[in-house]
Amino acid sequence: MKIAIVGTGYVGLVTGACFAETGIDVTCIDIDAEKIEQLRRGIIPIYEPGLDDLVASNMKAGRLQFTTSLPEVIGNVEIIFSAVGTPPDETGCADLKHVFEVARQIGRTLNGYKVIVTKSTVPVGTSRRVAGIIAEELSRRGESHPFDVVSNPEFLKEGDAIADFSKPDRIVVGVESERAKALMESLYKPFSDNGHAMICMDVASAEMTKYAANAMLATRISFMNDIANLCEIVGANVNMVRKGISFDERIGDKFLNPGCGYGGSCFPKDVKALASTGREQGYEMRVIQAVDRVNEEQKRIVFEKLSRHYNADLQEKRIAVWGLSYKPQTDDMRDAPALVVVEALLDAGCRVCVYDPVAMEVARRHFGDRVEYAKDIYAAAEGAEAILLLTEWKEFRIPDWERVRRAVKSPLVIDGRNIYDRAELQNLGFSYMGIGV
Ligand code: NAD
Repeated sequence: MKIAIVGTGYVGLVTGACFAETGIDVTCIDIDAEKIEQLRRGIIPIYEPGLDDLVASNMKAGRLQFTTSLPEVIGNVEIIFSAVGTPPDETGCADLKHVFEVARQIGRTLNGYKVIVTKSTVPVGTSRRVAGIIAEELSRRGESHPFDVVSNPEFLKEGDAIADFSKPDRIVVGVESERAKALMESLYKPFSDNGHAMICMDVASAEMTKYAANAMLATRISFMNDIANLCEIVGANVNMVRKGISFDERIGDKFLNPGCGYGGSCFPKDVKALASTGREQGYEMRVIQAVDRVNEEQKRIVFEKLSRHYNADLQEKRIAVWGLSYKPQTDDMRDAPALVVVEALLDAGCRVCVYDPVAMEVARRHFGDRVEYAKDIYAAAEGAEAILLLTEWKEFRIPDWERVRRAVKSPLVIDGRNIYDRAELQNLGFSYMGIGV
């Protein structure tokens, strides 16, 4: 089988490499010529554990190619995945211009039966609009070729993307033709044979499933942040509360960690897009709107704790920021709480020194020379009047606190992910603030 993946980002590249690993022939396409050139030279443009080896071995085996030209590839493949970005537009709706541009390109070059798979996260009705665009382009050419548009949303987590793709909890496929369903079943057979369930449904339900999944997870986080904030006011400890509820099988222990807000390329934009879909349909998604509002406020909470501690006088204070990516094991800073916190610190006149194990290059593109970049957490802490922990990287878990204590000017730790022990830090002479503890 031969397939093409259009859009070679976090999802497209992982999807391409993991499918190539099953023995099929995969061509990844991107309009970013520099990215394609890097990939051809074996350079992986993102940080994702294990991806470099997977890409290298499949390129070596001749199963994984990279190009900027969709027309060059389209004649030879049976399935075309579209995995381009769907960022929010200024109103919060998913911006579908890349998705529709890919549909137009496909319509201009389609030459026989193909299955077009929407892998990007798109609002209900998008795959139908993609089919309409392809049909329009075909009729403009005066040609008629059969095709099916399928929805196959992706549930991988950055940082664990290869394991998530290779051993998915479930594979959701929205498909309304037997011919396309048979092709999708044979493509995913190596996964379904290993017990990973493929759930087929109508296209609209598959599109909605992706938003419902992300919105549910985001809801758990915002819910716990709301509980955490109230815990602080009433003198309860949210870490205990979390334990206390997580043993209830109906609740479970996943996605219940309070903190300084969720970020990343999915939850914030997907929650906003779902609320927008509701509004477009004349239905207010009240829970989802609240989830978004709580999160936007939560992203400022670390800064506000700092500001209160110093009575809003932060001018010229040197502040260390530990962790920039929206979560560990990725360099992705899209919508990361660190963006909000660092901007608030700069607005308040602070001198900011940042450190992240892998996101420093990405950070440089955001902040330029407005912040200092440290080589490790200890260098970041040098002369600092507070340490703000924003990402729970494993290597931040057990710092040499004596060394940190010697480095800082004022021993204050604001723990945006509740990974440190208040008593331990207080014994070492630090002031400690967590979230809801
Ligand atoms: P990304 O920004 O990393 O990658 C998108 C790629 O598409 C870019 O390289 C861009 O150059 C390319 N592109 C844009 N227009 C193109 C065109 N016309 N032709 C060819 N290439 C084009 O995005 P991503 O994080 O991989 O996300 C892709 C989609 O998958 C989004 O809808 C996202 O919501 C969804 N998703 C993302 C994740 C995640 O963890 N990142 C998880 C599940 C689903």
